[in-house]
Amino acid sequence: MDTEHHKALREAVAAFGKRHGRAGDTQQLWTDAGKLGYLGVNLPEEHGGGGGGISELSIVLEELGAAGCPLLMLVVSPAICGTVISRFGTDAQKQQWLPGLADGTRIMAFGITEPDAGSNSHRITTTARRDQDTGDWILKGRKVFISGVDIADATLIVGRTEDARTGRLKPCLFIVPREAPGFTRHPIDMELNAAEKQFELTLDDVRLPADALVGDEDAGLLQLFAGLNPERIMTAAFAIGMGRHALAKAVEYARDRTVWNTPIGAHQAIAHPLAQAHIDLELARLMMQRAASLYDAGDDTGAGEAANMAKYAAGEACVKAVDQAVHTLGGNGLTREYGLARLTTAARVARIAPVSREMILNYVSHQTLGLPKSY
Ligand SMILES: Cc1cc2nc3c(=O)[nH]c(=O)nc-3n(C[C@H](O)[C@H](O)[C@H](O)COP(=O)(O)OP(=O)(O)OC[C@H]3O[C@@H](n4cnc5c(N)ncnc54)[C@H](O)[C@@H]3O)c2cc1C
Repeated sequence: MDTEHHKALREAVAAFGKRHGRAGDTQQLWTDAGKLGYLGVNLPEEHGGGGGGISELSIVLEELGAAGCPLLMLVVSPAICGTVISRFGTDAQKQQWLPGLADGTRIMAFGITEPDAGSNSHRITTTARRDQDTGDWILKGRKVFISGVDIADATLIVGRTEDARTGRLKPCLFIVPREAPGFTRHPIDMELNAAEKQFELTLDDVRLPADALVGDEDAGLLQLFAGLNPERIMTAAFAIGMGRHALAKAVEYARDRTVWNTPIGAHQAIAHPLAQAHIDLELARLMMQRAASLYDAGDDTGAGEAANMAKYAAGEACVKAVDQAVHTLGGNGLTREYGLARLTTAARVARIAPVSREMILNYVSHQTLGLPKSY
């Protein structure tokens, strides 16, 4: 539930998003949002942020999405990277990165997914080796589907240390500058109509200074989840915003469009699915707010379950809302002019990333219900 402060933020961002509009330039939106302090609402005040949490940042993303102009990099740059650096970075890393991440003048991408590991992050093989003479780190590996690497000053790469022989995930996080020698990227030809691109990355003996490691080499999992929970909450915000945007367009259309003697919105076959979509989005938002407030209160474990459930509910609600919106517009649902058809692909992203619907159902089956694992 929104506090007074949340309501004010929601209204201000909604008005800002509306002024910008769906067709505006994403880069300009990012810059303007940064100047207004929206990109860093969750980051510490002492480093140029707004001093709030993921609750506030999720409001920013949801409202921009509802206005038809979501900023995907909010999920990554301030939410994952900003959080991990503010919680576990050294003072030097905080000073170097947080003010820029907060005002948007610097962007950081996040890379965990690998071609041969996919949903099974325990299988990631990007390996960090220590040069015993210099103390440098040397990274080798591949990543796939990493968003925004071209516009990011650096990518926070999840690797594992070479001596992790137990087979258990012992992740370590490294800041890899965009132009680091041996760090190459190839855009993936996605069927997505978005400003942000996805990349396949190759790390071919990328040499990094000792201070490229964020946090403690032996506490990697905890640190990683400190970033992954905000990512799930923010993906829920992304999905809810998109779902609201689609639903609003459909409602507006259904109120006016008349082919018999009443507007199509008077037919319950059109009205009820839109009402259901609204209910599903509202319910998903409640779970997202719960996850965000648990996370902001420092309950990483409680937030984990809620963030997973919120991402699941929001992804499903978004896909259904978009599908119903497209259908409501009839032929116009598939025209470029109305801009809904392109959302059918975009909505699927929230179902698959950053963790798929099935992996969340697995999580709830095993962790919450205590059922045995099939894998
Ligand atoms: C637009 C977009 C942006 C992205 N941005 C980033 C990014 O910035 N950084 C990043 O690191 N990654 C990013 N990703 C990657 C994303 O997180 C992965 O696509 C996602 O984790 C799924 O992995 P996969 O594609 O390898 O699918 P797979 O793991 O191959 O899964 C394929 C299918 O099998 C199912 N499946 C797998 N295992 C099981 C199981 N045990 N039980 C039941 N079903 C199972 C899955 O649910 C899925 O439906 C992005 C993806 C997209 C589409």
